[in-house]
Amino acid sequence: MTHATELAVVGAGPGGYTAAFLAADLGMKVTLIDEAPNPGGVCLYRGCMPSKALLHVAKVLTEAQEASQWGISFGEPKVDLDRLRSWKSEVVSTLTGGLGQLTQQRKIEYVQGKASLVDPNRAAVTVADGSRREIRFDHAILATGSRPARPAALAVQHDRILDSTGALEVQRIPPRLLVVGGGYIGLELGSVYAALGSAVTVVEMTPALLPGVDPDLVRVFARRFGALAEAVRLNTTVTDLAPTDEGVDVRLEGPDVPADPQRFDEVLVAVGRVPNSNIEGVDRTAVKVDARGFIEVDAQRRTGERSLFAIGDLAGEPMLAHKAFHEARVAVETIAGQSVAFEPLVIPAVVFTDPEIAWCGLTEAQAKAEGRTVSTSRFPWGASGRAVTISRTDGMTKLVVDKESESILGVGIVGPGAGELIAEGVVAIEMGATIPDLTHCIHPHPTLSETMLESAESFLGLSTHVYKPSRRS
Ligand code: NAD
Repeated sequence: MTHATELAVVGAGPGGYTAAFLAADLGMKVTLIDEAPNPGGVCLYRGCMPSKALLHVAKVLTEAQEASQWGISFGEPKVDLDRLRSWKSEVVSTLTGGLGQLTQQRKIEYVQGKASLVDPNRAAVTVADGSRREIRFDHAILATGSRPARPAALAVQHDRILDSTGALEVQRIPPRLLVVGGGYIGLELGSVYAALGSAVTVVEMTPALLPGVDPDLVRVFARRFGALAEAVRLNTTVTDLAPTDEGVDVRLEGPDVPADPQRFDEVLVAVGRVPNSNIEGVDRTAVKVDARGFIEVDAQRRTGERSLFAIGDLAGEPMLAHKAFHEARVAVETIAGQSVAFEPLVIPAVVFTDPEIAWCGLTEAQAKAEGRTVSTSRFPWGASGRAVTISRTDGMTKLVVDKESESILGVGIVGPGAGELIAEGVVAIEMGATIPDLTHCIHPHPTLSETMLESAESFLGLSTHVYKPSRRS
């Protein structure tokens, strides 16, 4: 059976479903194809959303413990893993079910199956019921996402060795958990398991957690995480993973690591993700895949084949859902004949640990590497009344500013809610805001958002709650 559509979207994650929905809203006939029963992709089924549900639980657990400092004691928490898992599944099904409804409301044809490319204008889909369908399209958007990387040294298959998908299942709370990789996933899921009661060791092969992220921000996180985790080992790699019925014997290489293998109950491997560009039949088109596996695209997200577009994790870093949302709009608007380009000044990033770490634009190190003359301003949350009321004076808000024009080039925030607060930084940079622009905006009191305002005031040496005698003189 051949079926004709104007736009076929392969992959129904944040990039794919956004593209399909917008195209339908613009009047196109759309077919959305994914192996899952509803749209959602990795983000909703086994990424952003379930991990955020678990991180919320982790925060409640640690806050309940810390509440004793305010005179409130709850006693030892009892964790009902079955209920926790089913609540997490309810979150996922609420969200994916909602997307299913939105798909139907827009009269998008949803095909549950695996697609391959027959040629630049035809896809073959092996449908979930075993049948096979051919879809002829004017354009297709490839949005097949990414999967966890498993380098050879860590490729051992065993139920004690987990990737992010397995760890999100929370089948057990392992007494001793090794997390390989001190990046987004390692730190988010490591925090969840540590809060649930595992003794967590993180090994990171570079000299710092979250390589590339401003060390001023990471330091604040590392201080709190250091108290929650059993150990954080930097400059360290795993040379051997030997799972047995009793545990996993792990040989580590790095400074001060024991020579003998260390026994862990489970190991979470979180050393990056690789794009799913191995779409069958892609070689029958002019689509080009680079050495790292990303599909090469132009500013409109067009591939080497005029009928085919690629967005999201497939189309390059950063592998973030909100980048995919935006690329989806650019690709669809291009197909609709509009003159648009994917050229954001900044793409914000958030690590949803406690404290959250969020940044956008240039870091101080990047700005200096680019030869820019920059000044920075750091506002310590100890000077924020709101932070004091929640006992979280550990946070910090940092601005990277062009010295001459005083325009904001980068914003970094570490502290509870940093992921929400960073949006102001995005708007500021995209709008070309300067320090005076920020200081002229009245921020609500008492809120953590005032740390942006006071950071700007502090840049001028005029912050109400930070006294800087040297600048004034
Ligand atoms: P990552 O790139 O963030 O971190 C991987 C870490 O593993 C790096 O610090 C790297 O130096 C380290 N590493 C690599 N090989 C190693 C080895 N052999 N031994 C020890 N350390 C090693 O990757 P991730 O945490 O797997 O996440 C993948 C991607 O998923 C992220 O880059 C991000 O794009 C996305 N993600 C985003 C969020 C979010 O937005 N909050 C959350 C989870 C994942």
